[in-house]
Amino acid sequence: MAARVVLEEATVITATGAPPFEGAVVVDGGRIADVIEGRRRPGTGEERVVRLAGRCLLPGLIDAHVHAAAVDADIGAQNRRRYESEVAVLAGVALEEMLARGFTTVRDAGGADAGFRRAIEQGAITGPRLLVSGRPLSQTGGHGDQRSATDYNDHGDCGQHVGLVHAIADGPDEVRRTAREELRRGADQIKVMASGGVVSPTDRLESLQYSLEELSSAVATAQAAGTYVLAHAYTPASIAVCVEAGVRSIEHGNLLDEPTAKLMAEHGTFLVPTLVTYEKLHDEGARHGVPKESLDKLARIVDAGLESLTIAAGAGVRIASGSDLLGPMRRYQGEEIGIKAGALGAVGAIIAATRTNAELLGLEQEIGTIEVGKQADLIVADGDVLEHPGLLGRDGGVVLVLLGGRLVHDRLG
Ligand SMILES: [Zn+2]
Repeated sequence: MAARVVLEEATVITATGAPPFEGAVVVDGGRIADVIEGRRRPGTGEERVVRLAGRCLLPGLIDAHVHAAAVDADIGAQNRRRYESEVAVLAGVALEEMLARGFTTVRDAGGADAGFRRAIEQGAITGPRLLVSGRPLSQTGGHGDQRSATDYNDHGDCGQHVGLVHAIADGPDEVRRTAREELRRGADQIKVMASGGVVSPTDRLESLQYSLEELSSAVATAQAAGTYVLAHAYTPASIAVCVEAGVRSIEHGNLLDEPTAKLMAEHGTFLVPTLVTYEKLHDEGARHGVPKESLDKLARIVDAGLESLTIAAGAGVRIASGSDLLGPMRRYQGEEIGIKAGALGAVGAIIAATRTNAELLGLEQEIGTIEVGKQADLIVADGDVLEHPGLLGRDGGVVLVLLGGRLVHDRLG
């Protein structure tokens, strides 16, 4: 594709908060060179012109919570049955598929290490901009401890390095050392497990995990390295401890109540709802081998998700967006936006997955909106996403993807 590209006759959704308009976007040297309302001036003839016939042009989507290395839905079984090399290759394929769905930036919330980021930067695989968290930190018996109650091994994993492998660390000193270890290995940010979870075999969903001292140790360690902590948490009690410790984003947050939402808003803490994963675990988890004891825990949170979003929006919490899908269910990644639209409206759901996610990642100067000077991460949806936001989750709903001005997916025909 020519260095200079004009995408015209588009319905432009800038995600800045300004109303959508009919117009054109000019891409030059990998960046957005011009944003034009109405018909553009005649070009020089040197550029490639793509006519979008009224289709929606949006900033590239951002997913703040993926697991590229969760090849199977049953993580425990994956760790026992898959070769590391097999997991690495399949994770690379998963990243390529995310980009084709229109996700031009993803934050891996545990599992992927910096090697995947390097493989993309070297062009070995075509993937989205990638921020990795390495191994999530979990307390003994916490959400990241994959041992069954009858497993007497000392370590929480099977010794693998590639996959959804966690690091068990207890006490502020071990948390500090383990966080430093992940940073040494190239993690962009640190993930901690601060409450019970669905796919962990021995904890209760309501368990408080990690003390204020342990969480503060993780936050101080991350901040000293110029980065931050994201925390898995469902209950108001666990969220409140995270906010007090200075955690930047609460992942999931399904059981959020009003007082805790207020606390998050006061501290500027981001919420990263991941509603689609609970819907799909509920509908398809058993078929993909997720154990019954995990699925039993789902009932508590599957219906609470959308309500937590309404509470968060009412309190003025900064609402970001993730998917958190595992294994084959990752193909539903884009459905998160349609689900969120039920509480935030179509534009609100799109802004969560673009502008607000960029702010969460600290990349708001570079990506997240259609504005002159930003990276030309752009997608085209095959229809009216303002009327039908679910389109972004439909197979073939995203027909064109540009990453830094480079055409990486083209089904426009
Ligand atoms: Zn997750």
